[in-house]
Amino acid sequence: MGKGAEARSNNRCTLYNSNLMDTGLKNRVAIVAASSQGIGRATAEALAAEGCRVAMCARNAQTLHAAAEGIEKQYSAEVFAQALDVTDAEAVHRFVEEVASKFGSVDICVTNAGGPPAKGFLAASVEEWRKAVDANFLSTVYFAREVIPHMQRKHWGRIITITSITTKQPVPDLVLSNAVRAAVVGLVKSLANEFGKDGILVNNVGPGYTATDRLKELAKTRSGATGKSEKEIFEGWSADAPLKRLGEPREVADAIVWLASERASYVTGQTVLVDGGLYKGL
Ligand code: NAD
Repeated sequence: MGKGAEARSNNRCTLYNSNLMDTGLKNRVAIVAASSQGIGRATAEALAAEGCRVAMCARNAQTLHAAAEGIEKQYSAEVFAQALDVTDAEAVHRFVEEVASKFGSVDICVTNAGGPPAKGFLAASVEEWRKAVDANFLSTVYFAREVIPHMQRKHWGRIITITSITTKQPVPDLVLSNAVRAAVVGLVKSLANEFGKDGILVNNVGPGYTATDRLKELAKTRSGATGKSEKEIFEGWSADAPLKRLGEPREVADAIVWLASERASYVTGQTVLVDGGLYKGL
């Protein structure tokens, strides 16, 4: 390489390195649904740490406001929190409108809800199927319908759905999740195709076994069904993953931060698993 070319190449490196840690998320407005605890809360926290203004919601007002106040204090972040059920389309509409009027826009929307109960097919009632569709599919539709027009106006947006490893690999006693999450992936791909022209990137994140209250519930159900202790169930989950441990909510949140950031500006319509390698396919 000639001296001129080398200097130009070095300059490029210098420029890139000086910008290395910038996610471009400062002052972005981020909604994180179902965020009073677990992966949702960790995501709200991680986005606040990047300088986002964060809007949080969940059903339980007390836990939600405690989480919001904690994040506000720790990161000196602007946080708006409102108690609501993500299966209530009208409540989601009002929430998104309030966020937009308080913060001026909506740039990022992370959809989330509690997971469906662990059941085999014949044990799941029709009512449970309806609830799973409402919580784990339609809630995503409600948020997407509300936030997309705001994102179109700015020609910039990120929608990130939190689903599960079940989008790639069914889990034996989670038939509700195995079936309903697939619809979210179909929606994600469709939205990515339809709204890419508007600068809106739509991706899905699938956690593997992650240390939250949801997992404790799952361990209890499995323990009851198999006679194994909860400790053995947890050890089994860790052993199944090549990384030989459970994930931390923060590790899922970090993947979401990356997808929301300028660093993922050419990534859309994808499912990213954060599962310690648990998914066994190619
Ligand atoms: P979690 O139970 O710890 O937290 C769920 C959050 O959702 C809470 O803040 C709760 O208040 C809120 N919520 C539940 N239903 C709601 C509703 N209808 N309206 C508003 N808020 C609601 O769960 P988590 O482990 O953080 O999981 C988040 C998502 O990721 C779930 O869909 C779960 O099934 C999925 N997931 C979790 C794991 C895991 O190992 N933890 C693995 C794969 C997938």
